[in-house]
Formats: sequence, structure tokens, C-alpha cells
Amino acid sequence: MRFSRLRLSGFKSFVDPTELHIERGLTGVVGPNGCGKSNLLEAIRWVMGENRAKSLRGSGMDDVIFAGTDKRPARNMAEVTLVIDNQDRSAPAEYNDEDFIEVTRRIERESGSAYRINGKDVRQKDVQLLFADAATGAHSPALVSQGRIGTLINAKPQDRRAILEEAAGISGLHTRRKEAESRLRGAEGNLTRLQDVIQAME
Ligand code: ATP
Repeated sequence: MRFSRLRLSGFKSFVDPTELHIERGLTGVVGPNGCGKSNLLEAIRWVMGENRAKSLRGSGMDDVIFAGTDKRPARNMAEVTLVIDNQDRSAPAEYNDEDFIEVTRRIERESGSAYRINGKDVRQKDVQLLFADAATGAHSPALVSQGRIGTLINAKPQDRRAILEEAAGISGLHTRRKEAESRLRGAEGNLTRLQDVIQAME
């Protein structure tokens, strides 16, 4: 899945409508401290359906809306659009008719978020599934925020393994294993009860 453009308006420090073209290959963002480099990564995470305000360095979701400066008043709305280039048809099959997919998230103060895919209103789940089916998303280890490398280096081996398992695409198997084990325990309990009933009847 290739991201080709990112549009922001009213998102954190990007108060004016801004469009960034993401070219093929490796993209680097350079600039002085505090110019908004991390805000760009957070915008990508947010439009993919990130719900935890903390991971966007805020205490509530409204904190992503431009909060105003000495010279400019605060905004009441923030919007981010991520344009996905689907010419290689790498998005899920239901988007096979689309060369480009535009995913938009908009938030208004105290009213929560609304999502659109190619102009149509959708649920947050639809957006999260679009990215999950393409093996990415707001929690993807491919999005490396500041300090994450240090955390990874200093992490306990078990925590580091969880990140590697996510990258290998096998973390979902743990959930299925837990479910299977719990069903097995339930079946064993039923068998024991059945044996008690059979013994009582004999
Ligand atoms: P560094 O290189 O120091 O890590 P950076 O380029 O990654 O910096 P960011 O952390 O992305 O910069 O941006 C920080 C700037 O964004 C700060 O100036 C902060 O005031 C501004 N900012 C964050 N949230 C908002 C908001 N809701 N409204 C207005 N400005 C905001």
C-alpha cells in the first residue's frame, strides 16, 4: 500500500491547508526543532483511526485541533486526508475499481470524529479494516515515533518479541490459541461432568 499524498487542515500546528506529496522510495522529513515533523507522523496515525489521545501526545482527542497562538485564534475543526495510490491494486479487493483511495478523518470540538472513504461516510471500523487488511494501521511497527528505537533497544526480550511477532504477522495467532485453549478447558469440564453422570446412573 503506497501513500501518495497527505492533506492537513487545522491539525495541530498545521493550521492552514497543507498538502504533502509522498514520492516513491524513502521519504525524510527535516526541519528545526518544533516545526511539526512528529505532527506529520501523528496525522498519518490519526487518519488511520488512532483512538488513544496519549499516543498523539494529547490528553483528549480535541487536542489534535489547532489550539491557537498569540497571533492566531484556535480552530474548531481539524481534517486530515491520506491519499493511497492503488494503481498496483495492493488495497483490499473491494477497492479494485479505484486507482486512488482517499481516506478522510474530521473532528469538530466536542463532537467527535467522522470518517469518509472516497467521499462516502464510513465507520471508524471500516477505515481500520482497510489498513489492517493491507497489513498496516495506526499501531503498525512501521510507524516509528521518536524515542521508540530507544524503547526497543532497552525493552525486555518478551516485549521485543511482541514487536517482532507483529512484524512477522503472527501476533493474531496468540489470540486464536487462547480462544482454542479456553474452549478445550470447557470441553474437558463437560467430559468430567458427563463421566460423573454416567457413574451415578450405573
Ligand atoms: P522535534 O524536532 O523537537 O522533535 P518536531 O519537528 O517533531 O520537533 P512536533 O513535535 O511535531 O515538532 O511539533 C511541535 C509543535 O507543534 C509545537 O510548537 C507545538 O506547540 C505545536 N502543536 C502541537 N499541538 C498543537 C495544537 N493542538 N495546536 C497548535 N500547535 C500545536
